[in-house]
Amino acid sequence: MEKSKSYQFKVANICLHHGEEPPISGTSGSGTFFFTGCNLKCVFCQNYQISQEGLGSSISIDDLAEKMVELQKQGTHNINLVSPTHYGSRIVDLIKSAREKGLNIPIVYNSNGYDSLAILKQLKGLVQIYMPDIKYGDDSFALKYSSAKGYVGINQAAIKEMFNQVGNLHLDEDGIAIKGILVRHLVLPNNLSQSKDCLDFLSSISKDLYVSIMSQYHPCYKAGEHPELNRLLSPEEYYAVVDYAEELGMENLFIQELSSHKTYLPQIQLCLICQTYSSCILQPLADHRY
Ligand code: SF4
Repeated sequence: MEKSKSYQFKVANICLHHGEEPPISGTSGSGTFFFTGCNLKCVFCQNYQISQEGLGSSISIDDLAEKMVELQKQGTHNINLVSPTHYGSRIVDLIKSAREKGLNIPIVYNSNGYDSLAILKQLKGLVQIYMPDIKYGDDSFALKYSSAKGYVGINQAAIKEMFNQVGNLHLDEDGIAIKGILVRHLVLPNNLSQSKDCLDFLSSISKDLYVSIMSQYHPCYKAGEHPELNRLLSPEEYYAVVDYAEELGMENLFIQELSSHKTYLPQIQLCLICQTYSSCILQPLADHRY
């Protein structure tokens, strides 16, 4: 059996990230680890160089755990694991290793929500904050645009498990998340995300659920091959979803500016690998592979 300490991960960037929702980024930033690869294949992926084309470099579990402690020393509010799902139980070992090295801030499990229940159960007690997507309310669209078979059932079961583990989001006196779940939903054009079905499900879990309704869609990667995806979201499409969430009585909503598709790029401030500052995920990745 392979020893956990020999595990290798592939990571595209490690940084203090100020572009997450306010309770996650706070004032000091979220210590974010962008894992290379993804268990989905979204044709519209903004980060396709990382998720689909393998951009990133190998790093041992030991070194990765130490990077987490380094970020903690810099004052980050949490450790944010982006696209961890395809690492399965190795993420469990990674978190345990970091805790052994002195990590004592919350872990954020930031996934596309296509997570197995078996792995989530192993993460119970190790992850303090879950930040899953709810990408689709219809399996046929999930299969067509993300190659995700049975997405709706798997996603909803995962969100229920996450909620059962950590409950609604709890904030400290400064408004920083310390525990709980925050769900993200990217509204797609032409109702391809079936947003109302997604919100019906979320509100059935809890009206107090924190939900980030995202307007930042813009056609990336292979979206141009699908005319129905090859445009921005209209204001009417976006605000119809926001209005519906409010009609359902959901009050803990994060709403984006409709212009966010122009400005949205994860804000990366300090790369621990290259020790340089940057403002965009893609440029430093091209220049600073490690
Ligand atoms: S789940 Fe996210 S990172 Fe993965 S392919 Fe889809 S959009 Fe890209």
